[in-house]
Amino acid sequence: MVDSNADDPSPRCATCGDRIAADGRRRVETTVEDGEVVYRQFCDETCLAAWERV
Ligand SMILES: [Zn+2]
Repeated sequence: MVDSNADDPSPRCATCGDRIAADGRRRVETTVEDGEVVYRQFCDETCLAAWERV
């Protein structure tokens, strides 16, 4: 399989821990922590909002 996309093949929501389906509702948040880029994935914008409130 040739795929230049380096995404985790089975991403999990950073808020609820569910598997994230590639159905278009998922959200990816990019942050920089200690000089490294960190990607967090969420199953939908509700979980994204919940994580941002913490
Ligand atoms: Zn979620």
